[in-house]
Amino acid sequence: MSKDFATLIRLFAVVAIFMQLTTVGQVIKNNKQEKNYYSENKKPLIPSAYIKLPVGAVHPEGWLKEYLFRQRDGLTGNLGNISAWLQKTDNAWFSKTGEGAWGWEEVPYWLKGYGNLAYILNDPKMLAETKVWIEGVLNSQREDGNFGPKNFDGKNQDFWANMIMLYCLQSYYEYSNDARVLDLMTKYFKFQQTVPDENFINGYWQGLRGGDNLHSVLWLYNHTGDQFLLELAEKVHRCTKSWTARNYELHAGTHPQKNNPEWYKLLPDWHNVNVAQGFREPATYYQLSKNPADIKASYDVFNIIREYFGQVPGGMFGSDEVARPGYSDPRQGVETCGLVEQMNSDQHMLRITGDLMWADHAENVAFNMYPAAVTADFKALHYLTAPNMVQCDDKNHAPGVMNHGPFLMYNPFSSRCCQHNHAQGWPYYVENLWMATPDKGAFAALYAASNATIKVGNGTEVKFTETTNYPFGEKVDIALSMSKPVEFPLYLRIPGWCKNAAIFINGKKVDVKVEAGKASVVTRKWKSGDKVNMDLPMEITVTRWEKNKNAASVNYGPLTFSLKIKENYIKKGSDKTAIWDSKWQKGVDTSKWPSWEIYPESDWNYGLVLDKENPSKSFEIIKKSWPKSNFPFTNGDAPIVLKGKARKITEWKLDEHLLCGVLPQSPVLTNEPVVDIELIPMGAARLRISAFPVAK
Ligand SMILES: [Zn+2]
Repeated sequence: MSKDFATLIRLFAVVAIFMQLTTVGQVIKNNKQEKNYYSENKKPLIPSAYIKLPVGAVHPEGWLKEYLFRQRDGLTGNLGNISAWLQKTDNAWFSKTGEGAWGWEEVPYWLKGYGNLAYILNDPKMLAETKVWIEGVLNSQREDGNFGPKNFDGKNQDFWANMIMLYCLQSYYEYSNDARVLDLMTKYFKFQQTVPDENFINGYWQGLRGGDNLHSVLWLYNHTGDQFLLELAEKVHRCTKSWTARNYELHAGTHPQKNNPEWYKLLPDWHNVNVAQGFREPATYYQLSKNPADIKASYDVFNIIREYFGQVPGGMFGSDEVARPGYSDPRQGVETCGLVEQMNSDQHMLRITGDLMWADHAENVAFNMYPAAVTADFKALHYLTAPNMVQCDDKNHAPGVMNHGPFLMYNPFSSRCCQHNHAQGWPYYVENLWMATPDKGAFAALYAASNATIKVGNGTEVKFTETTNYPFGEKVDIALSMSKPVEFPLYLRIPGWCKNAAIFINGKKVDVKVEAGKASVVTRKWKSGDKVNMDLPMEITVTRWEKNKNAASVNYGPLTFSLKIKENYIKKGSDKTAIWDSKWQKGVDTSKWPSWEIYPESDWNYGLVLDKENPSKSFEIIKKSWPKSNFPFTNGDAPIVLKGKARKITEWKLDEHLLCGVLPQSPVLTNEPVVDIELIPMGAARLRISAFPVAK
């Protein structure tokens, strides 16, 4: 570990603990420990900073609703008829003995999003399909309390797939209040208590992801108060691979073993999905342990992987399968699984810590990375998405990226884990737009057009109707309606990037503290017809990535921008171009579900020409009318475009791995003429350069 980095880590830790203590302190003060209307942390757990609303309490509008429609009509809604793992014949998820040809992570990965999409859209066909799977799972429980497919990790049971299914059951419970869920989970956790430590959650995937099991144990505790669950929580934490130590021997099968730098020992694992979901295990456990070292560990892991592999725009890090020393260029990608797990983790971290940085981060990944992981019609997705990605073809790009095979093209039959796990992304996001607070208030956490019905104050239900084109607009309007006036605190998140936010109530500016990265609180007796208007002025900022070739990226509010590259889509046979581990059902109409390559039809090798004194002055903002499609995440329909200047860097081109060449060190000397370029939001660009060299 370099001295600089050691100092940096200590600084992160101190800041993190400080933020944590102040936030939690406030909540404790506010929390009178009376019963809330929603399931919050029960003693002895720390009080919840924010409380999740049951699925169905929040409905999306605007582009987010359009996104859910595309998911329903696209891959998520139809995967049940495509993926071999989702066929009902001989499916181990329906089997009382846990046996069957199909039965691991795929069903629960998909159901986690599919079911919640059904609850949110209240779609009868999808609700019926969800019910079939949930009933199958509820009926699969055995005498000893175990349930689901019998999978083994060496000699021991593999608990991983069940960890995901527990999420599905929790959502179903929120939707239905079906007591069989509490019953199944209680019996299952009693069964887990009988498994000796040495046989419990100790393989590779499950060992690193035990935090998901821990979350579910605490969720059940908050519903039933059964004391044995606190003992089990200790055991799950004890048996999960630690994310708190900083000196690890890495799994030899997955990590490079030779010539690794010292800092490569800092994490127990560098697989993108393991990190994106595993890093929050210590924070989850902190709710029970109350040990500041635990919460610190989660912030540390988040920061460590970004220090070495995340010096790039979009909020993620370069970890195509596993983050490898020497591969930290913005052309390194992350799995679609990594994106949705990170968003889910950010939402968990927000509710646990109350630190609004997690909301900013969830938006960063949701707006800038996740949309580009799927085609605009949501009918195909790819495994790896990177900040710089200029050709999504059916070729093998290894060893430029770690994975061998067609991992960059969009294919509905392919990318087995992501093909199923993508589904949770937007439904979970919708559920977390609004939250309840321990002092019986409401919290606007993530901004998007939506409506939410929340019980507040003395128990009165208030409907919040949020109208906005955010993040493509700077105004958020919230109208309140209720049966009778009610006093409660309304918490409004001020994004960390927003310097001059203002809040108006019924047309009058309100005199409350408005600070970037903090929540403003308005407590008053609210009445039907009250209107809250927020101004969230966006500015252009230019980020310099000094540790990554001094590259530059361009932001406007929460959006990061990419060079607009003309995208040429080439249709291919999904069955002909699928990755080796893909399996699909007999008789799927491949003509309805093609795979896609995307080739660039315009140059991408530009270096930005920046105003030396004031780099943000180098761009002109063009605001276009809202797209008729109601869908802003495409190359042609993006409602905000930036115009800037650039010069070509001729020696920067596709390399021998057919990836865009590694970034040259900026500033880059070039004699090419200055030309006009257009930038579009990164999430709308499926071919993209978003970490730019700077031309001299
Ligand atoms: Zn995946």
